[in-house]
Amino acid sequence: MALPRTVVIAGAGIGGLTAALAIARRGFQVCVLEAAERLEGIGAGIQLSPNASRILIALGLAERLAPHVVVPEELKVRDAASGRVLARAPLGVDAEQRYGAPYWMIHRGDLQAALCEAVKAHPDISLQLGVKIEDFAIYENKVRVAAGRNAGTVEESGIALIGADGLWSTLRTRLGHNAAPRFAHHTAWRALVGKEAVAPEFSTPAINLWLGHNAHLVHYPVRGGRLVNIVAILRDEWKQPGWSAPGASDELLARFPAAQWHASARDLISAPTQWQKWALYDCAPLEQWGQGPVTLLGDAAHPMLPYLAQGAAMAIEDAAVLGQCLGEIPGDPVGALRAYEQKRSARTARTQRAARSNGTVYHLGGVGARLRSLALCMMGPRLIRRYDWLYGWQPR
Ligand SMILES: Cc1cc2nc3c(=O)[nH]c(=O)nc-3n(C[C@H](O)[C@H](O)[C@H](O)COP(=O)(O)OP(=O)(O)OC[C@H]3O[C@@H](n4cnc5c(N)ncnc54)[C@H](O)[C@@H]3O)c2cc1C
Repeated sequence: MALPRTVVIAGAGIGGLTAALAIARRGFQVCVLEAAERLEGIGAGIQLSPNASRILIALGLAERLAPHVVVPEELKVRDAASGRVLARAPLGVDAEQRYGAPYWMIHRGDLQAALCEAVKAHPDISLQLGVKIEDFAIYENKVRVAAGRNAGTVEESGIALIGADGLWSTLRTRLGHNAAPRFAHHTAWRALVGKEAVAPEFSTPAINLWLGHNAHLVHYPVRGGRLVNIVAILRDEWKQPGWSAPGASDELLARFPAAQWHASARDLISAPTQWQKWALYDCAPLEQWGQGPVTLLGDAAHPMLPYLAQGAAMAIEDAAVLGQCLGEIPGDPVGALRAYEQKRSARTARTQRAARSNGTVYHLGGVGARLRSLALCMMGPRLIRRYDWLYGWQPR
């Protein structure tokens, strides 16, 4: 039965949960349907640049997030072979002053748990787990959703349906976007280790980025600084979907040979006993996200490669803008969804393209790598200003 002013959201990832909060605060009822039986703390580190943290703060989440976030004092970019720091860009207080909101690093599971607590505490949001949306039908004033639960089916109706169902979105396909995500020929390996397992210089509050030929390494502390999140990205043809395939440490270390990687980077890669890996995909920007009372949000709308650390941030931005558009024209959900798409498509497309291009630059070898290093040395602390367009963004 259709509830007046109910918005149905497919997916309780970072995007779906943030959207639920942003939409409910505009006076709507929200029904979130999530395919997973449990929202476990899967994943590792996620960076929340000021464009995202300002939204989470505005949604009242600062207190819930405070015990989990780490504020990086700086970004350090290093050359893989020599270990030399090519550029250091201040974050911390500088970023907060420049962009009006903090830069945070957090475990994805901690962010999802904080959002989930806020969603569960909200009287106008219902969250159902183990419910996989399979299809929808549009009627004059509503959209009806068909979903599977165990062996049975569930039906929900609302004035709008938001597909926040991630990279492999069922709703994106159902909306007629048939192109499969593009495999980037890269895999990301992630591990978490206690801070005592790494050299003291690597447990300080900083984002470290090592650039090598066809591979790069990112590491930073999470969980209030108790753990270090390590992500190694390399050229690879392994392309199974999913987030958490086991990866063998010796296989990874062999891909970071001593001839190309400084001993301290190899020590860091040797520290974890367990790795998990996922294959990297993105999509070319979609021309039209949704139709009628249905739209897409987050990775479902604009899956991107992680080389700008903006996947979660863009999903959070989408959520804020969607809430705003629905709130501005509450009597016209279809018009609100088109206004939302119009506000979001150019920015998310630019971010998708910029992430892809960073991947190419990060993995250069030979002369290209030397020119890149020179450019980084010359930019120095001004490096971060290249991202003013990203971090300075405000919902309007
Ligand atoms: C398990 C997992 C682990 C991750 N780990 C990392 C990580 O370590 N580092 C990193 O940078 N990024 C990670 N990500 C990706 C990152 O969270 C997203 O890129 C980003 O936060 C955008 O979020 P999203 O909400 O758009 O999509 P997602 O976070 O992918 O969330 C989509 C949600 O939709 C649900 N879903 C899918 N299909 C349906 C359906 N038909 N009906 C109902 N629900 C459905 C999924 O179960 C999932 O909970 C991970 C994502 C997932 C799902």
